[in-house]
Amino acid sequence: MKPLFFTPGPSQLYPTFNKHLQTALAENIASISHRGEAFHSIVSETIADLKRLLKIPKEYRLFFLASSLESMERIIENCVYRESFHFINGAFSRKFFQMALELGKKSRKNEVQAGEGNELLTTRISETSEVIVVTHNETSTGCMLPLAEICALRSMYPQQLIAVDIVSSAPYGKIDFSCLDLAFFSVQKGFGMPAGLSVLIVSPAALTKARWLGKKNIVTGSYHRFSRLDENMEKRETPETPNVLYLTVLGQIVKDMLKKGRSHLQSETEKKAKMMYAYFGAHKIYSPFIKEKKFRSTTTIVIDVKGKALELAEKLQQKQIYVGKGYGVFKNTHL
Ligand SMILES: *Cc1c(COP(=O)(O)O)cnc(C)c1O
Repeated sequence: MKPLFFTPGPSQLYPTFNKHLQTALAENIASISHRGEAFHSIVSETIADLKRLLKIPKEYRLFFLASSLESMERIIENCVYRESFHFINGAFSRKFFQMALELGKKSRKNEVQAGEGNELLTTRISETSEVIVVTHNETSTGCMLPLAEICALRSMYPQQLIAVDIVSSAPYGKIDFSCLDLAFFSVQKGFGMPAGLSVLIVSPAALTKARWLGKKNIVTGSYHRFSRLDENMEKRETPETPNVLYLTVLGQIVKDMLKKGRSHLQSETEKKAKMMYAYFGAHKIYSPFIKEKKFRSTTTIVIDVKGKALELAEKLQQKQIYVGKGYGVFKNTHL
């Protein structure tokens, strides 16, 4: 039996990954210039297909970065002068907030305990916040915030930029990008690729903000500041020598997903999540960590296994099934 990975990321490789990698190698993609025509068309096509798959508006920019943590840092540097606001419900959303503090911003937060979700619409967000940060799917706890509420923030806070971490929900999440200004994901989660490539989606308003900060002589970074990324993307290039091989393979996987149909992909994910929650909802000992159904993730299902995580993970591994153990302090209690 082939090993099966139910790990949140790196996750199981997409079934066609190996084939596309072999093809790309056979076509010498790993050695082509990142300033040449062949690369320009790879970038154009990958971006066009990603926009089609995720329904991203034409005027939004897509930038290729190294990781999602990098995307978080770039967002703070390029869009926050003094203050951002963060909804925190686990380790990844907290990391984003701490990064803002480390970069010298006076950021504020609404934080709930692990296992709970934030009430986005009844939280008071100060007028002085420049960016509102939401983690759509908090991988560390299995909490997914309702997209309708994330979208409603747009009309409640028309002056603010809205940034959403979609790392472990893309390409599943049916996000209306016109409600947000910044979103990002890494390819080792829902796109089934090895780690080392992240996509940052940027609205015209967010680019304008970055340029405004630049004019005020605020340091917005060097080779990966938005204005530099944008100048290069005009030419279908990246400032640095990028991972051409992975960009190519990502483009092919996105094409496969388009062929399969995103709604098919979404309904499969929902069906599997429903089975998991039905089983563990009725289990005598184990139970879903997120109690409130409104906040239960469809993509990363966290089960409280009452301290048996290591034991169960080992048993499953003997059957060639790999599951992620709990995050941080939940190492022994969650799968
Ligand atoms: C994995 C993950 C990240 C970090 O992604 P990297 O590619 O490791 O930087 C950020 N946010 C969430 C929700 C994640 O699941």
